[in-house]
Amino acid sequence: MKQAVNIVWLKRDLRLTDHQPLFNASLSPLPVILLYVFEPSLINAPDGDIRHWRFVWQSLMDIEQKLNHLNQHLTITYGEVIPVLEELQKEFKIVNIYAHQEIGVKITFDRDKAVASFCKQHHVKFTEFQRDAIQRGRKNREQWDEQRLSYLQEPISVINWNRIKTIEAAKINARNLIPEEIKHSHPDFQIGGSTEARKLLDSFLNERIYQYMKQISKPKQSRTGCSRLSPYLAWGNISMREVIHAIANHPVKNNKRMVSFWMSRLQWHCHFIQKFETACEVENQNLNKAFDDVRTEWNQTYFEAWCEGKTGYPLVDACMRCVKRTGYINFRMRAMLVSFLTHNLWLDWKKGAVFLAKQFLDYEPCIHYPQFQMQAGTMGVHIIRTYNPIKQSIDHDPDGAFIKEWIPELSLVPTPALFQPWLMTEIEQKMYKCVIGKDYPFPIVDLKLSANHASTHLWAVKKTKIAKEEGQLILNKLSSRKNDQALLPKTKRSTKNEKQDLNFKLF
Ligand SMILES: Cc1cc2nc3c(=O)[nH]c(=O)nc-3n(C[C@H](O)[C@H](O)[C@H](O)COP(=O)(O)OP(=O)(O)OC[C@H]3O[C@@H](n4cnc5c(N)ncnc54)[C@H](O)[C@@H]3O)c2cc1C
Repeated sequence: MKQAVNIVWLKRDLRLTDHQPLFNASLSPLPVILLYVFEPSLINAPDGDIRHWRFVWQSLMDIEQKLNHLNQHLTITYGEVIPVLEELQKEFKIVNIYAHQEIGVKITFDRDKAVASFCKQHHVKFTEFQRDAIQRGRKNREQWDEQRLSYLQEPISVINWNRIKTIEAAKINARNLIPEEIKHSHPDFQIGGSTEARKLLDSFLNERIYQYMKQISKPKQSRTGCSRLSPYLAWGNISMREVIHAIANHPVKNNKRMVSFWMSRLQWHCHFIQKFETACEVENQNLNKAFDDVRTEWNQTYFEAWCEGKTGYPLVDACMRCVKRTGYINFRMRAMLVSFLTHNLWLDWKKGAVFLAKQFLDYEPCIHYPQFQMQAGTMGVHIIRTYNPIKQSIDHDPDGAFIKEWIPELSLVPTPALFQPWLMTEIEQKMYKCVIGKDYPFPIVDLKLSANHASTHLWAVKKTKIAKEEGQLILNKLSSRKNDQALLPKTKRSTKNEKQDLNFKLF
């Protein structure tokens, strides 16, 4: 007679608190297998990188440490999910599988559908719970904002660990198959796990938030001035509701302007994921079909120069080298990297999106792909923005400290020559030990000409009837009813958002 069990299947919800699948499992008298599966198909997917799986491993170790104190168990295995479930079926009678809905790329969506049909076939009840405030199957944003707010304000269900008995499914435990490099930490990256997430949130609310508005756009200062919570939200080490509750219980909430500025970013998090849920084709198709005929030619040399941080534009190259090495760069610099790729180099966004997905430790497909398309101008509903890397350097890295940190070739070059090193005379190049064309590349394209070319072409398409019609459909489907005209957050709009988010003083 097989032992009856419930399974709690962990995916991008790597925490033990505010966890509806675990909470539901705690209500049943059946023992629980708390399961994480390292799936080779995801590990080897084009958008996956070792840094992501290291973060996942660290998150699981953090969970396991907490479980050890509770005398509970985590089962970690390696393999595709269906064979793992088949293996479990041989030993146990699986009654329920509880999981969160994973709003994500096609490969995970197809995997979840396969799990659903496995469950149907084997008479297992598969219950998927809502992720944060994201609603599956929505066709538009009618009433979404109100529902999002009320979801986030609901009390957090506390799990009674005395009522759960987790058992280890020892036969499927395959930790030895997990690539060793995943298990080794790396000093250049943030460390995964809810414990780290909590520490970071505390330090942000206690101190760092006071610098946030000043430092958000600066590539160097944003590394401490921004919350840096993104990988923890992306991999589910902390839920959005937990973040919102932490703010509501912290004295900093009285500093309304500052807090609502940050909360509007948190709000975008949910907005973008909801957008992806409604239009998942954003992963690999232009959302606005009118843009299918622009950027049809590919230039591999340009692409490689961008990927390697060797475009000849110091801020672009510094940002790329920094994100490759550390997994993080701030929002404005991400937007500039995409602008340079798609506008100045006039390359299609798709390969670049996959490349940066691998670099971002906080890779969240539902934010990443819509953001990429917004910056590339292929939604056709926003202002087309081309960032000038020289201006961005002067505005946000005026002493050149960030550029010098990431481009040692330029470390002796003083400002303002640092921002346009190709303008240095031969004598200056020798003096500062940086010969352009030898130590550091000439600019790969002319900034002004390439920006004008992009702007002319994109605006011409944007004005066509088909682009406008497609744009209207996108707005109807993806933007909030309260604020139909804008997907792109603007100053005016954030004022409105601020008002909404101040509703949290309800707490
Ligand atoms: C091309 C491009 C790709 C991006 N890809 C990702 C991605 O894969 N994962 C990801 O989490 N963010 C992505 N972003 C959004 C943004 O750059 C990061 O969320 C932010 O830089 C993370 O730093 P932080 O945690 O210190 O943010 P904070 O400024 O402290 O903001 C707090 C949280 O709000 C959310 N947030 C902040 N800005 C945005 C935004 N513009 N859109 C949506 N949510 C936001 C994030 O969850 C973030 O952790 C992308 C932006 C661009 C332009």
